[in-house]
Amino acid sequence: MAPTPDRDTRILAFANQKGGVGKTTTAINLATALAADYRVLLIDLDPQGNASTGLGIARQDRAAGSYALLVEDGKLADLVRPTAIPNLSILPADPDLAGAEVELVGLEDRERRLAAGLKAGAEVLSGFDFVFLDCPPSLGLITLNALVAAQGVIVPLQTEFFALEGISQITRTIDRVRRALNPRLALDGIVLTMVDRRNNLSELVANDVRGFFKDKVYETVIPRNVRVSEAPSHGLPVLLYDFRSPGAQAHIKLAAEFLKRERARVPAR
Ligand code: ADP
Ligand code: MG
Repeated sequence: MAPTPDRDTRILAFANQKGGVGKTTTAINLATALAADYRVLLIDLDPQGNASTGLGIARQDRAAGSYALLVEDGKLADLVRPTAIPNLSILPADPDLAGAEVELVGLEDRERRLAAGLKAGAEVLSGFDFVFLDCPPSLGLITLNALVAAQGVIVPLQTEFFALEGISQITRTIDRVRRALNPRLALDGIVLTMVDRRNNLSELVANDVRGFFKDKVYETVIPRNVRVSEAPSHGLPVLLYDFRSPGAQAHIKLAAEFLKRERARVPAR
């Protein structure tokens, strides 16, 4: 994988208002795979802090993180930390983040707090090729901040019965944010997660989603794989927990497809 020549930092949100669809898993593992060749920053915006835990940062070690940036005008340079994975840094979710959804309401420019915080930390940000925003399972103010700060959105989608209804909610939100707050925002891709090939419904839904969203949908699908669900309890991405597992291999393939798309992308502006 030859790194792309210097382009601006790419900021991508991993968003879907549903919980348990694979946002965090996709963000962590794509970030880990990319960190082999690129400098990546993962910003954990979910009060549950699963991305932080999944990258080995235990709850008691979180200290100041994304809450400080969003609500307290914290400086990115003071808040970003390395992970055990070379080239992968994290802005963890601090315990106070649960309050941000409510506290943001009273703040000026409440939808642009994250964008402003990242802009203020432009020097730190320029040290990264990719910044991934792991969103909480809602379309509240935290996710809105992510969509305003991002250039693109990746929507992990679990192939289940109501998948198409669920995705229309997030795509409508993306359209609204693009019109009102962030004209450059694009739906960059949909990743089908927890796909079970033995399950007809899973295949049917996958076909429906592809029929509707065409090449927005990644060819690579992430299979349901128990190793993926075991990895976070070891504080490791599945890529490091069990490299040979089907779940890990699928994420490596996803990263290759992601980079192929990134290279084909016409730079905005
Ligand atoms: P979200 O961030 O959207 O809430 P997660 O990435 O945390 O979703 O995934 C939800 C749960 O499903 C987690 O326990 C995770 O370990 C598990 N999981 C995610 N992807 C897979 C997969 N491909 N196979 C099996 N379990 C998975
Ligand atoms: Mg999550």
